[in-house]
Amino acid sequence: MWQKPDMHDKALRYEAHDRQEKSQILLALLQALLITACLLLITYTLFDGWRERLVERGRQAGRTELLGIRKNLFLLMGNQEMFTALFGQRLEESLAAGLDVNLSELASYLTYLEHTHPSFAFATITRESVLTDSYFRQGLHAFDFDVETLVHYEEHIGYTLQMQDVTLDGPLQGENGTSYLVSRYALHDPDGLWGLLTLHFDFKQVLNEAGVEEVGEDYRVFFTFVHGSDKESFDWGDATTSNEEAVVMDLSYSLLKWRMQIVPTDSWIEFSLPLFLYGIVSTLVCIAIGVFIYLYQIKFQIFKTRSRTDSMTGLLNRREFEILLHQTCISGEPFAVALIDIDNFKEINDVHGHLNGDKALLSLVGNLKQHIRMSDALARFGGDEFILLFHGCTRVDFCKRLFQDIAHTRVDLDGEQVEVVISMGVVLSDEHSQAQALVKIADRRLYQAKQDGKGRICTSG
Ligand code: GH3
Ligand code: MG
Repeated sequence: MWQKPDMHDKALRYEAHDRQEKSQILLALLQALLITACLLLITYTLFDGWRERLVERGRQAGRTELLGIRKNLFLLMGNQEMFTALFGQRLEESLAAGLDVNLSELASYLTYLEHTHPSFAFATITRESVLTDSYFRQGLHAFDFDVETLVHYEEHIGYTLQMQDVTLDGPLQGENGTSYLVSRYALHDPDGLWGLLTLHFDFKQVLNEAGVEEVGEDYRVFFTFVHGSDKESFDWGDATTSNEEAVVMDLSYSLLKWRMQIVPTDSWIEFSLPLFLYGIVSTLVCIAIGVFIYLYQIKFQIFKTRSRTDSMTGLLNRREFEILLHQTCISGEPFAVALIDIDNFKEINDVHGHLNGDKALLSLVGNLKQHIRMSDALARFGGDEFILLFHGCTRVDFCKRLFQDIAHTRVDLDGEQVEVVISMGVVLSDEHSQAQALVKIADRRLYQAKQDGKGRICTSG
């Protein structure tokens, strides 16, 4: 049922329009943000993949370094074992023949070892845990290796000596802070175990020979030794290295079980200008696309609104109104259509000028808007003609009452009070089912109203 609108209606209408505009802007913003986020995600994924590849390349380089060290260490230890074995063989032969151990022969072997192995530090011979003899490099006369440490160490690891067994073990901490890898040989006489020969190799020097020093500039190397029967470990190198950032390689040799770790001095990632530029440029491009989409959406909304409305009054245009009317006809709901035309508008234009004519037109529109409900539709039908659709209206009385309110609009044109008078033709929806036919009837009645003297409403005929 149609009801006369009040000021509250008007406020609501403006509010609704405002809300619609805001929601369109918000929707455009959300769409733009969503697309930007998707693009940034793709960019980030590609960036990350690229970065990972660079990191992996760095790690691979570290791994290669470690492999080199490992290979060298094995070679060194292999040599050491071989020499020790040879030396042991000679001693074995001497002992088997019932000869005393020839210390000068021993010395010549050790001298040979000293020349071939820069890491060789000194050798000891112990019998029943007592140091019986020692041989050390020239210049190492300050030798202060405590045999008790060795004895303690042997007990500690539960090491058992076996015939002709050469074992590599360590590292042992010397009192002067030097750590030694040791190579042991069990010496037997006919009655059984005679003693123990131990060769000491400076661990730092062993690593130098293995090439650790060469990688020292770019990488930090870290060793952890874990003895089989022991949970205690010996660390050598930069202990701040964590497993996550290190390339880790496990190796074991004879009694030795150790873990080598390597990390770059800075980071695994190589600085890459293309990657850096890609990160910056692609982020900017993503944001630019987002902004473009946002602005385009707003522009599209404006264009869409413009195509639906009359530019001067902001009302629906004729085409949009006809679509709306057609839809309302199909819906089957009752309604009324009122066609309005300004009386003698040409005269207003002629007397007060075209700009004032526009002003009068807009005043009428303002007046019409104030008197209709939010649910009613008002459109500019053309020139000085307007058309109204009253939803739910079943009686012309309501249109007649509305007409009383809008028939005369007073407007100030250059200080002169002018009345904008209108004529109106009304048709109810039950008079015809076709939208076009209804407009035609309303037009006929509007014409009739003009014929009857203007400034009036015609609802039949
Ligand atoms: P009638 O009472 O028979 O309707 O006479 P009228 O003078 O109003 O004549 P009619 O409706 O046939 O002509 C409408 C005139 O309105 C024609 C045109 O000059 C003028 N007009 C149409 N659109 C505009 C506009 O946007 N602004 C102004 N100022 N005038 C317009
Ligand atoms: Mg007119």
